[in-house]
Amino acid sequence: MNKRIRKLLFFIIVFNIILFLFTTKTFAREISEDIDSIDDSQYPGIKAMIQDLKSRHPNWKFKVEYTNLSWEEVINAEHQGHSASVSPSNLVQADSPSYGGLWICEICENQRYDTGSWYCASVEALEYMMDPRNSLNDSDLFQFMQLSGFDNFDNETVRNTLKQMASKYPLINDECINATIEAANTYKVDPYYIMAKILEEQSVTSPLYTGEGYNGLYKGYYNLFNIGATATSGNRGDVIINGLSYAASQNWDSKSASIKGGVQIIAKNYISQEQDTLYYQKFDVIGDSKYEHQYQQNVLGAQTAGSNLKKLYSTYDPNLNNNYSFIIPLYRGTPSEKCPRPAIDRQHTLSSLNGIAGDVNGDNQVNIGDVIYLINYINGKVQIPDNKLPLARVCGNNNLTIGDAILLINYINGKAVLKNVGVITSTLNQTTTVKLLPNGSDYKNISQGMEIKILKLAESPVADVYWDLVVGSNGVYGYIPRNNYN
Ligand SMILES: [Zn+2]
Repeated sequence: MNKRIRKLLFFIIVFNIILFLFTTKTFAREISEDIDSIDDSQYPGIKAMIQDLKSRHPNWKFKVEYTNLSWEEVINAEHQGHSASVSPSNLVQADSPSYGGLWICEICENQRYDTGSWYCASVEALEYMMDPRNSLNDSDLFQFMQLSGFDNFDNETVRNTLKQMASKYPLINDECINATIEAANTYKVDPYYIMAKILEEQSVTSPLYTGEGYNGLYKGYYNLFNIGATATSGNRGDVIINGLSYAASQNWDSKSASIKGGVQIIAKNYISQEQDTLYYQKFDVIGDSKYEHQYQQNVLGAQTAGSNLKKLYSTYDPNLNNNYSFIIPLYRGTPSEKCPRPAIDRQHTLSSLNGIAGDVNGDNQVNIGDVIYLINYINGKVQIPDNKLPLARVCGNNNLTIGDAILLINYINGKAVLKNVGVITSTLNQTTTVKLLPNGSDYKNISQGMEIKILKLAESPVADVYWDLVVGSNGVYGYIPRNNYN
């Protein structure tokens, strides 16, 4: 080949590679600083809340990230792993008076995970913690602080601030302070973020902090960020051993080595991978490994670390007037109202219910593949006609499809128990014929006799019917109609 052509080809290839890298890097994220243009009908309430924060803190910089993910998809994707072998993506502290009732996953109930002090988190807990509107306030905002590109801090100011904090937090000692400052300079990571993370992860008595080892093993090793400290067994000892074993594999034989090594991993695996806020480190809603690359399972992890971060900043900047930058995630289909804090009590009493059907995917329309709930509840009893069920009307939409499943549900003290399963065999005008399956049959993952529980009460009706979110004991979700509750 002619030398000049080869040279030209070479440049074309290099140019294209650069163009490819440039475009994928630049346009992969849709981040905007234009707060005034946020569409309030798509992202209700966000614009006003950010504008309010900006008006009270003129130095703060806000960006919004259009994740292009739907709220429903994100919540479903985070509500996964309901078994000991997989381990849930999100956990909530067990045995705590603040996190009972609707905080706890209805599928897993009192199944314990991780160290044995954690329950699987519910849909309500996830919605409450992930809804950015619940954290667009002075106390919870710092979980959105942008952590990347941090190379402008004064070592002595940092040292003095951390020394002041040490009186409040005994685990901050001189060795931790020195290692934090060194790691912050080396990896261009905010030193206060490093310390906030340690405070969130550690206690002074944890073997991962003390270096005393566990059951005679791994004495002299430290893992202040709890990297690799997980276990599916639900046994605290296994979590500690796994964390210490990881520390030994990295040769973290001092607090200092653990901090420097840990910051290197966090900077490389999280911050430079666009998980550059505490929120994104907890809830992995951007990047290629979506929902899988999450720093911790504690559903409150981002909020706790964020509030520690804010405390550290306010030690040297009491009115928080510095130029902090925040990235707020936006989700398509954000609910019109802020997701409420889950109730600690989940008891509801049903008084009466009348007929009709619901769908599984929550769009209030019945489509092929949906599971249908048919209920005829009269005078406190479920009426089960022999081979023919009452007219099925779904929010005025009669798209019942042959092959759809029909469930008959009996309500007892607020618990719904599946009584029978039927399959639609024909639909004609306003009537539907259903063939009940023999006792003990399963259909579309629904088993007879399966208990169904109410997960969430609908707050507004659709065509005069309130559709409450329910879940079967095998994790199948559905909506059931409600007319009256006491
Ligand atoms: Zn669960």
